[in-house]
Amino acid sequence: MSLEFSADEPVRHVLVADDEPHIGRIIQMKLERGRYRVSLVSDGRDALERIRGDEPIDFILLDIMMPYVSGLDVLAETRQLPARQQTPVIVLTAKGQDSDRRRALDLGATDFFTKPFSPKKLLARIDEFFA
Ligand SMILES: [Mg+2]
Repeated sequence: MSLEFSADEPVRHVLVADDEPHIGRIIQMKLERGRYRVSLVSDGRDALERIRGDEPIDFILLDIMMPYVSGLDVLAETRQLPARQQTPVIVLTAKGQDSDRRRALDLGATDFFTKPFSPKKLLARIDEFFA
């Protein structure tokens, strides 16, 4: 896969919500080497605040287990917002959360990744949406 980006390809804004700082940072570093700008938040309340706002968000990554508001609850509200109904959402789950994964897909998640996952594969999956 080419690492070259054409100059007229837009920079996409990705909201990443994960309460484990090292995971958030790894995702951010990987995506920002691609053609993405990342906003990183570390709990569900901050994620909802960004999602309820009117800034353009092209893609959302939601950890499930987060303080204040779970990723599933953030996802449910996201899909209630007309401006965010089509926004792709990838849910990040821990091993053994099979029921959470089903619930995420029922709530309108686009896909899920089980931790630990390859940041490279995550980037490739996101790239597919904008190819
Ligand atoms: Mg978590």
